[in-house]
Amino acid sequence: MASSTSITLLAHCLCATHTFHTRIPPSSLPLPTSICHCTSCRLTTGALSTSATPWPTPRATVNTSALRTFAFSPRINVLFCGTCGSPLFFEFPLEKGARLSVVAGMVRVGRDGDGDEGCGFEDEDEGETDTGTEIETELLQSAKHICVGDTRDGGATLWAPRWDRRSGEEVPRFWGRSEGSAALGWDWLDEINTTRSEHGDQDEDADQDEDEKVLPIRCKCQGVNLRLHRGPASPTTTSTPPAKLRSISCSCRSCRLASGASTFHWAVAALSNISFATLSTFSSSASTSACPSTSTPAFPTSASALRAAVDASALGTLTYYASSPSTQRYFCRVCSASVFYASAERKGEVRVAIGVLGAGSGARAEGWVHWGGLEGDWYKNWDGYGHDAGVEKKKKQYARCGRTSKALMETRLDVDATA
Ligand SMILES: [Zn+2]
Ligand SMILES: [Zn+2]
Ligand SMILES: [Zn+2]
Ligand SMILES: [Zn+2]
Repeated sequence: MASSTSITLLAHCLCATHTFHTRIPPSSLPLPTSICHCTSCRLTTGALSTSATPWPTPRATVNTSALRTFAFSPRINVLFCGTCGSPLFFEFPLEKGARLSVVAGMVRVGRDGDGDEGCGFEDEDEGETDTGTEIETELLQSAKHICVGDTRDGGATLWAPRWDRRSGEEVPRFWGRSEGSAALGWDWLDEINTTRSEHGDQDEDADQDEDEKVLPIRCKCQGVNLRLHRGPASPTTTSTPPAKLRSISCSCRSCRLASGASTFHWAVAALSNISFATLSTFSSSASTSACPSTSTPAFPTSASALRAAVDASALGTLTYYASSPSTQRYFCRVCSASVFYASAERKGEVRVAIGVLGAGSGARAEGWVHWGGLEGDWYKNWDGYGHDAGVEKKKKQYARCGRTSKALMETRLDVDATA
């Protein structure tokens, strides 16, 4: 019989093939998380940042052998589910005992027996049936933001709360990793922009983005290496006026478990505007170019064709997990990056993970993505990539990929609407 003085900490992937659980004293909550905004984290998850907290049991007692491993760096491995792509752990192989940190978005508090019988949730895209016990205390606490400098534009820190709700202290932000790195003031982006404007180059990067006709869609391992093109026309059309893609910021269970981030950001794009990387030279160069080589296939232009192509192993390392009968979550089977979300209902479009976009201006790809709708009050409740019970409750109001709160979360721009 489990003691009432301890609680179950669970981590499981989206498809629930892999579940890890341990017991911890309630006094150990909230678990401190370090939120990393580095380019590698974005390219490995498709999210705008990742967050992790030490897994509180000895490494030797945690059997991760069924998880897939990606060498994120010489000193960090990402351990993820090969079926659904959920990143579960960061492993530090060079450290004594190969320490494990669990990806924060995968963690929740369960009730007795949870984890032994599976996680008990149904398909998340259609409903929220989490059986996890809601607790009054916070599960996670944002201790610091690191590698913010990598984002160039501040990335997701734009929406992160400034003050820690428990201590009332400012959550520190660091340009690089916190050790030996410069701490950033709250107004660091304003300061950078002021410096730029004094030199007459304010918003130069965003302007440059808007001039760009192609944008890389590339995961960390580069097994997924595609190009996103402007406008509704074919990749070889050069006369299309620049248009921004509408964004969807989603906190549904599927997005969270697929990426490990509490809030996931998508850009909606026409499939006909995506090509293989080798086609980019044709679309971005003069229209006098010859037709693309016949040896380079066209990228699928419908959700069903995309699925068929991946079923036939024709799209590099891209694979998918069907999170409901009509939806596919595409991820890289080598590095685990979330890349696309496609639905049979939206035949000619996909949602593209903004974290794998390679915009010159920065992580938010401001010259390509319209972020309208994020100013609403709801976003002030965002907990900086934790997800305690209170925040989960609130998020359910606008979860499910924007379906229940389109007015707040989606802004469709003219050209995109006709795509
Ligand atoms: Zn899984
Ligand atoms: Zn990182
Ligand atoms: Zn990859
Ligand atoms: Zn979602």
